[in-house]
Amino acid sequence: MTKHYLLTPGPVPVPPEIALKEALPVFHHRTGEFAAVYRDIAKGLKYIFQTENEVYALASSGTGAMEATVANLLSPGDRIIVASCGIFGCRWIEIAQEYGMEVVSVSVEWGKAVKPAEIEKALRENPDVKAVYTTFVETSTGVANDIKTIGEIVSKTNAVLVVDAISGLVGQEFRADEWKVDATVSASQKGFMLAPGLAFIMLSGKAWKLVENSKLPKFYFDVRKYKKFYALSETPFTPPITLIVALQESIRLIREKGLENIWNECGLLAKAARSGMKALGLELFGEVPCEVVTSALVPVEIGVEIVETLREKYGVSIAGGQGDLKGKIIRFAHMGYIGKADLLVGFTCLEMVLIELGMKIEKGKAAAAVEKVLLKAM
Ligand SMILES: *Cc1c(COP(=O)(O)O)cnc(C)c1O
Repeated sequence: MTKHYLLTPGPVPVPPEIALKEALPVFHHRTGEFAAVYRDIAKGLKYIFQTENEVYALASSGTGAMEATVANLLSPGDRIIVASCGIFGCRWIEIAQEYGMEVVSVSVEWGKAVKPAEIEKALRENPDVKAVYTTFVETSTGVANDIKTIGEIVSKTNAVLVVDAISGLVGQEFRADEWKVDATVSASQKGFMLAPGLAFIMLSGKAWKLVENSKLPKFYFDVRKYKKFYALSETPFTPPITLIVALQESIRLIREKGLENIWNECGLLAKAARSGMKALGLELFGEVPCEVVTSALVPVEIGVEIVETLREKYGVSIAGGQGDLKGKIIRFAHMGYIGKADLLVGFTCLEMVLIELGMKIEKGKAAAAVEKVLLKAM
């Protein structure tokens, strides 16, 4: 049996405090017991999203909440802008097109950050668009987008700003209200440190105006149902009770540490990870590196093998590239329950694998580089 290290950008490892809650017996959800938990998580989610808006929990992975923002905000014939810079940005286009929406795409090459000025120009040229859809942390490339500036631009128009913050939330500074974000989605298996299966959706007053006029078909993900039941501290359908109980513990742990401290720590780990990659002779990938996952280019001949060997020989899981980036990059996550010691383990094993696969690296270089950054900050 090999000890396993999960260093992927979702799912991330579940801390024992949360895992124990996930193991508790299930109780009924139309009870005062559940309502008390629900009230508590409702308050906690506002803190985590940095919002006064209501945040609903949905039983789905993150993509379900993404789809819900399309089905609930738009109507047949609507036009939207999608500003994408990777796989998850492209997912907005796929979902919107499936619903028959007309998409004005403001996309940039993968590895670059979306350009706020291009969004501004697209809004000027298409004054009828209902919404701008974009991604906070584009997990497939490791790039963070400037949501604050984009929020400033979109808030001056009639369009709403919809942001996929699935991987960035909790780990990297995100302020829904201050940054004028109208709809945000996230999911349980990233910064929240929970098992997958729970998604979140936040909607502003401006977004609710669209909801009230939306004519796209929806049933399970109809947010009006969630709003009605939210007032009763309930959900319209059977919730993933176990995950909601575990979420209460996740929020407790996040509050105990404090969001700003978590942001700072992820920032430090990101700095150490970038330094570790460079020490291994790997070029960093991504124009504006985010703080929850670090990407680097790897020789294509061994790109896939690095990830497989690391998992098979050492029990260390990192992520490779997706889509067109398959085999070309590796992605090392440092969000959620991934800490300083995990970084040292991960980088040391990564170094051993690269040496085994023929790269010329002086032993101990990656760990030394990671240590240097960590020690300086202590
Ligand atoms: C993980 C992730 C998703 C996908 O979420 P699922 O939970 O797999 O549906 C979407 N967007 C981003 C930015 C992600 O990191």
